[in-house]
Amino acid sequence: MRSAPHLHLRESADPGLAAVASLPGVGPALEATLARLGILRIQDLWFHLPLRYEDRTRITAIRDLRAADSVQVEGTVEAVEQGFRFRPQLRVVITDDARSMLTLRFFSFRRTQVQQLAPGTRLRCYGQVRYGAHGFEMVHPQYQRVLADGSGVDECLTPVYPTTEGLGQKRLAVLIAKALLQLPPAAQLEQIPAPLLEPLRLQSLRDALLQVHRPAADADVAALLQGIHPSQRRLAFEELLAHHLGMKRLRARIRSHRAPGLAGTGEAQRDLLAALPFKLTGAQQRVAREIARDMSRSEPMLRLVHGDVGSGKTVVAALAALVAIESGFQVALMAPTELLAEQHLRNFRDWFAPLGIEPVWLAGKVQGKARQAAMTALQGPAQLVIGTHALMQDAVAFRKLGLVIIDEQHRFGVHQRLALRDKGADAELVPHQLVLTATPIPRTLAMTAYADLDVSRIDELPPGRSPVTTVAISTARRAEVVDRIRAACGEGRQAYWVCTLIEDSEQLEAQAAETTHAELERTLQGISIGLIHGRMKPAEKQKVMQQFQSGAISVLVATTVIEVGVDVPNASLMIMENAERLGLAQLHQLRGRVGRGSLASSCVLLYQPPLSAMARERLNALRETNDGFEIAEKDLKLRGPGELLGTRQTGRLEFRIANLTRDAAMLAEVQDVAGTMLRKHAGACDRLIARWVGNSARFADA
Ligand code: ADP
Ligand code: MG
Repeated sequence: MRSAPHLHLRESADPGLAAVASLPGVGPALEATLARLGILRIQDLWFHLPLRYEDRTRITAIRDLRAADSVQVEGTVEAVEQGFRFRPQLRVVITDDARSMLTLRFFSFRRTQVQQLAPGTRLRCYGQVRYGAHGFEMVHPQYQRVLADGSGVDECLTPVYPTTEGLGQKRLAVLIAKALLQLPPAAQLEQIPAPLLEPLRLQSLRDALLQVHRPAADADVAALLQGIHPSQRRLAFEELLAHHLGMKRLRARIRSHRAPGLAGTGEAQRDLLAALPFKLTGAQQRVAREIARDMSRSEPMLRLVHGDVGSGKTVVAALAALVAIESGFQVALMAPTELLAEQHLRNFRDWFAPLGIEPVWLAGKVQGKARQAAMTALQGPAQLVIGTHALMQDAVAFRKLGLVIIDEQHRFGVHQRLALRDKGADAELVPHQLVLTATPIPRTLAMTAYADLDVSRIDELPPGRSPVTTVAISTARRAEVVDRIRAACGEGRQAYWVCTLIEDSEQLEAQAAETTHAELERTLQGISIGLIHGRMKPAEKQKVMQQFQSGAISVLVATTVIEVGVDVPNASLMIMENAERLGLAQLHQLRGRVGRGSLASSCVLLYQPPLSAMARERLNALRETNDGFEIAEKDLKLRGPGELLGTRQTGRLEFRIANLTRDAAMLAEVQDVAGTMLRKHAGACDRLIARWVGNSARFADA
């Protein structure tokens, strides 16, 4: 081919591959900071995409504020007050033209700043609204003084980038702008081969990048804020494609390694099954067979089991563990929280003790001698180890690891899974991997989110479960709900009261739980009420959980830390606050904490009226069905384009711009294009993966 040398020349001159240090003004310190964000090359700046936008194109009247919204308001300073409550603080009260008041709070400030905020000054503030002791407030809002002629303020859609300590938004935006000057012409930037790209009718990558970083003055603001602008869709498509390619590559690489073929005698399995107080469901049996078949092969199993909460995934995992142990290999079981790992430890101890198998425990809090002993055991006689992330640390080494089981996968990334896989006995033989997740997801999504895994579904609940009755009740009727708890506790039942917030703040969530706890202690005298939240020490959490499990606590006020996997069969009533703000999947997960025993259970969704149409549909969906797969399909429909639920999903993957639920309609095309590219355009695949997921080094050296 005549053009080949020319092509080669162009590629080696690809400005995107130059180091960030080649940009004017980037010295070693900044370079190191950027590296922490995974930004090493110029193109990493191009693809460092805004997390969201701050809408400075509109001003919201103070009387229209709602807690948790991020908005811009404008008003005149009425009062400034410096005080000291726990720590120094500055309170600034502003009122807008309608004379509504808003408090601005600063906990760190300079004297000059106080002077600039004198009464009568007109301010334009941008921040998140919360409801405080004196009505609405903003903590540390960004603000600009509005000059007499109305000037001095920006009116635009300001991108907000993911960043790190020591690198402010402004500085990062300037760097990105500099990098964008080096964007090559459109044709050179594209990696998706033209014949594949053209039928998709997408914007050019170059235009898309320029638009998301610097929205034009006449851009469709609403679309950009919702993440459905054609530029965002263009980038989302490419990102999904790159991830898909990355996962397919990964799978192929892992599959090219050898794994020990594990068969066992089946004796331990039979003993366990005989000792269980129940019979496996048909779905459990089917999935157990699928796993056994995979493990008997000499290529590594990569299997995901997804089944609703309470569908009985644990025992299926236990059966898999026995196959490996009987074949003389070790098993590692990892859970995302200490609470969950401990629950597994208890289960496996009970089940395996009669078989003479004693699990080793390894979590972050296992320190000193105990840790040493655990580590020694892993290099020696240990057959099964149960723990948390602690299992992935470099120092942890196994004698003969044959199977890795990871519970509640969406909390771990692909890379973490790989870290455990690398702990196989020797470089030649890698362990089998079994992943369990309680988030049922629709098939189309599963094909992308888990493109590197084979998927089994446990789509049947054990018999005898009474479905959870779900009702939605306005917070105005909170007192009735409290009465209901009193009655339930009077009958010896237990209840959860879950405090949720939409903001990603453990601290605020913990505060809300503390307040509710105090309130319930007042109104439910004589009933023991516990409290558990993410800011407590693991030991405290465990103590509270044990008290709840033993019945010493009747009502457990909790934050979403209880979301995953915790099992207290006697708890048959759940109250969820702010239900209107949560996504379907999360509501369903939380609800799964009740209905685990044979007691008739109920779930009360407390909401703050008025309900939006979307929230009403979500609550209805929950009332109508308990089936996680049905709910997942419904969730996908509801969240189709147009719906914006929070800025970042608690996604199964970390995406820069794509959102599996929102962008689900693209997945079929992504899979098609990926298929052709893997077969015919290996080089372009490499470059796409490098561009979007390249710095996740684990992808590269799987
Ligand atoms: P999950 O899939 O949410 O992890 P678990 O494995 O914790 O569910 O199982 C939930 C409960 O159901 C446990 O108490 C478990 O012992 C019980 N269980 C599991 N399988 C069956 C079955 N086939 N019949 C009856 N109970 C079962
Ligand atoms: Mg579980």
